[in-house]
Amino acid sequence: MPLESARSKPDETLRGRIEREISEAGAFVDLPLVLRAFDFSETAHSGQRRKSGESFMLHPAEVASIMLELLGPRADSVLLASALLHDVCEDTDVTIKRIESEFGAEVAAIVDGVTKISGLEFESPEAEQAENFRKMLLSMARDIRVILVKLGDRLHNMRTLEPLRPDQRERIARETRDVYAPLAHRLGIGKLKWELEDLSLKWLDPQAYHTLAEQVSVTRAERERFIDEMKQPVLERLREAGIRADVTGRAKHFFSIYRKMQVRGVRLEEMYDLFGVRVVTRTKAECYQALGIIHDLFVPVQDRFKDYIALPKTNLYQSLHTTVIGPNRRMVEIQIRTREMHMTAELGIAAHYSYKEGGPPDRELQEKFGGLFASAAEWESEAGDAQDFMDFLHLSLYQDEVFIFTPKRELKRLPKGSTPIDFAYMIHSQVGGHCVGARVNGRIVPLRYELRNGDIVEIITSSNAQPTKDWLGLVATSKARAKIRHHLNAREQQDSIALGRDMLQREFRRHRQKVPADKDLTDAAQALGFDETELLLAAVGRGDISAVHVFNKVHPPEVPKKPTSSSTVERLKNLAFRDGGGLRIQDIDNLMIRIAQCCSPVPGERVVGIVTRGRGVSVHRIDCPNTFDSTIQPERRMAVQWDVDADRTFLVKLVVYGRERGGLLADIAEAITGSGTNIRRAEVDSDSTSARGNFVVAVKNLGHLRRVIGAIRKVRGVTRIERHHQISEPRKQGGEEWDS
Ligand code: MN
Repeated sequence: MPLESARSKPDETLRGRIEREISEAGAFVDLPLVLRAFDFSETAHSGQRRKSGESFMLHPAEVASIMLELLGPRADSVLLASALLHDVCEDTDVTIKRIESEFGAEVAAIVDGVTKISGLEFESPEAEQAENFRKMLLSMARDIRVILVKLGDRLHNMRTLEPLRPDQRERIARETRDVYAPLAHRLGIGKLKWELEDLSLKWLDPQAYHTLAEQVSVTRAERERFIDEMKQPVLERLREAGIRADVTGRAKHFFSIYRKMQVRGVRLEEMYDLFGVRVVTRTKAECYQALGIIHDLFVPVQDRFKDYIALPKTNLYQSLHTTVIGPNRRMVEIQIRTREMHMTAELGIAAHYSYKEGGPPDRELQEKFGGLFASAAEWESEAGDAQDFMDFLHLSLYQDEVFIFTPKRELKRLPKGSTPIDFAYMIHSQVGGHCVGARVNGRIVPLRYELRNGDIVEIITSSNAQPTKDWLGLVATSKARAKIRHHLNAREQQDSIALGRDMLQREFRRHRQKVPADKDLTDAAQALGFDETELLLAAVGRGDISAVHVFNKVHPPEVPKKPTSSSTVERLKNLAFRDGGGLRIQDIDNLMIRIAQCCSPVPGERVVGIVTRGRGVSVHRIDCPNTFDSTIQPERRMAVQWDVDADRTFLVKLVVYGRERGGLLADIAEAITGSGTNIRRAEVDSDSTSARGNFVVAVKNLGHLRRVIGAIRKVRGVTRIERHHQISEPRKQGGEEWDS
């Protein structure tokens, strides 16, 4: 939940509102001190107005409200007074010295920490910005409250960007996205980070923001129904196990949806995880128990389980994450954590730091936060330039990314796990396509080298190098992946064309006909439904259409019925039609056609016919391993189309695995028949913990098969369903698929 903007009640003064909010938060503070800070600030800012025309005092008061909302009873007097006074030294004549004598050294140090440097000359706006960040981080190392006030200040400014000029809005939003939100993330303050990110998206890509907001609100009612449907059984089972837990639905934040869409290159409609479920328990052990219960109720999605309890993130975040197939076969992400972990997820460092004790955060806490403070402190002694400092800041904030340098020392940002290939494609697709290696910090490294922060990377290219299939496993950026795929596809097409041309030439030579040039095939290509000759050649090369068939288009057999041709197809024409009902082979009738039993294709799947000696044509799924056998001459492959009678069925064997719970296999059988499907044969096998069933089912087509699988998947306890090759159904014809 984003922090809600605080509002005054009717007839309430701003001062009265702060007083009320302090008591509502249950914070034990030195109220006279806070109110004195309010009065001091109001006097200092008197007459000043915000761009919106409102009294300036509204701003520091809102920052104090944000602190109270964020920290509740943990908010302290120094923090609140500093929030109220944070702009006094920057925007009025009041000095830090004056603040110190009025409110003490702690308040003065925080106010100083958030006040921009003045009175110094900078060579560039970037240098000034860098110095201000450095100053802020150094103060933060001494007192974490500096960053809380600064983030609260930024949040209120982001909420009220509207009246500013477009270029100002964009600059502030960009800085928020690039520095403040990552800083909040780094310190684990999820509550502030999310709202800062969503607001920066609102101003940096307003169209995307509003589309997301609309979509998310459209699906809200549906989402709540869905969550309810999931919640009930979970709560019930948790209660049975004696676990008291809160189960809530949660909408994903716009920015995280947006980033995922960009990283994966998908549209909003394709995003399945717009919302999730959160389970908050009392103890760590209960987290794992709850996980077991959820995995028992819903089928978990493989490879989507993460244990951040055993391995916390660098910002101390802890939770179990899993994705399951929920009602209506929708994927839902579930987070499971204790109350304490939840607090850390929302407040981060602020949840771990007690201000009552005073002083800076202890060393251990500093270490836990990745040495961000310690590194900031080091900068005090080292006199690096502004750009160096900004580089350092980015290095410490973006842990999921690596920063590298070009040989010209330009800084480039890449996702963690990137290799020189990613970097090469980032420079240019030509560089990517021809890279053979890289020099990192002066040493030659292989292409699989994982780039590290600070590496100076130079790409080595060679004009005759080109991408290979294993590069797909080496890259981390979507750009590199897309370019490599594109290249591989284009090359495969070229290979198919060359192979197709070769096969056709052989076929023509076999018939002692003049080998045609590409242009001589134009008519045949069009007659066969290809716009270009190359597409026809590629289809022949891939085996989608046979060379014989193309040859017959160019040289139609003189007397089609005459069984004198030597071609296999001609001979087969005279064989009896047997059980191929529902299939058409090219334009030839009366072929003996059989459904291959190794892959048992069903209508709706792409198939290919393989001519067998003396036994007609057997029809396989296009991806059946048996069709890749190198002993099959290309001429024996034939294009096949489905042409199904309405009541014809096809046998498919399904192997279903599950956790035995008594009656599992019976439930599966019931689900299959319940979907209107006949079971031809069933074999079951189970022990005390697991069960396995083989079901041979009769389906009409692919849609029907999917329906059956869907019905089985809904059965509680089912963990895996496989479609099996090699049905050992008593054979009607017997014999092998082909002899070679
Ligand atoms: Mn401010």
